[in-house]
Amino acid sequence: MKRILALVAILLIAGGALYFAQQHRRQDVMSVNAVVDSAADWQRDLTRAPMHFTRISDDQETRIGDELAQQYASAQPTQTAEMAAMEWYVSKVGGRVAAHAVRRLAFRFHVIASVDMINAFALPGGHVFVGQGLLDQMTSEDELAFVLGHEIEHIDHYHAVERVQIEAQLNKLNLDIEAAVAQIPISLWQAGYSKEQEFEADREGLRIASAAGYSPQGAVNMLERWTQLHREYVIHAQTPTGELSQLAIEGLTGYFRTHPLPSERLAQANEIIAQDHLPLSRPLKPFHVEYEVTSEER
Ligand SMILES: [Zn+2]
Repeated sequence: MKRILALVAILLIAGGALYFAQQHRRQDVMSVNAVVDSAADWQRDLTRAPMHFTRISDDQETRIGDELAQQYASAQPTQTAEMAAMEWYVSKVGGRVAAHAVRRLAFRFHVIASVDMINAFALPGGHVFVGQGLLDQMTSEDELAFVLGHEIEHIDHYHAVERVQIEAQLNKLNLDIEAAVAQIPISLWQAGYSKEQEFEADREGLRIASAAGYSPQGAVNMLERWTQLHREYVIHAQTPTGELSQLAIEGLTGYFRTHPLPSERLAQANEIIAQDHLPLSRPLKPFHVEYEVTSEER
């Protein structure tokens, strides 16, 4: 019981920090990262707390996801035409990959227009968010397909809806009341899931991206990039080759703190590719966003 109370206290503090962050846009990313750190600690404790709940219906899960997505999207800056084109592209690739998911949900894809956001996350009911900073790291459509496949599988395997049910139980939130659900801070989704769930999302995401016609080399390239970023910004924390802002670096280290080691994820991807005989030699598709500048914008 003591532990539960401590967890609730951490959550309240996290919620407060997020509210403060939203009031102070400039410090937003950094404050959110502080919350991501608390969320990581919270998650570790949570795995030891017993939880019992029955699965909610797909309809209710979708309503909850829609409410959260609306809440988070409204906190983002107004989108430029360029980011709208990017979102269209992400949705096109995501739709292709999601067609191979087991659950028949309306998957929807959103871009968070921030170069400092090197992360992606999934909400219950089918919403997937990708940060511009993460998209900037990609060189092929196959890498994007893997990242989206990973997030889709967090939804497909009920990781996202279980998270919202745990939240509701810890905070005594009524899942039937949309305003109550909307209190869940965005950082809890950014913080990722348990190690087992992250590995499962990697495996299944790799499989559905391959089934959608993408090269598994995309997953290998993405995970190699994470391994390199982890080496540059976490292990050595000096002489990085990239030019990331302090905010982006904070975000990245928060991400690595809440996810399994990229080298272990890469090793698992290589195992699955060998075991399932996935077509590693399939050519990579270029990362290609079609964006036309209209006369009014020139
Ligand atoms: Zn994940």
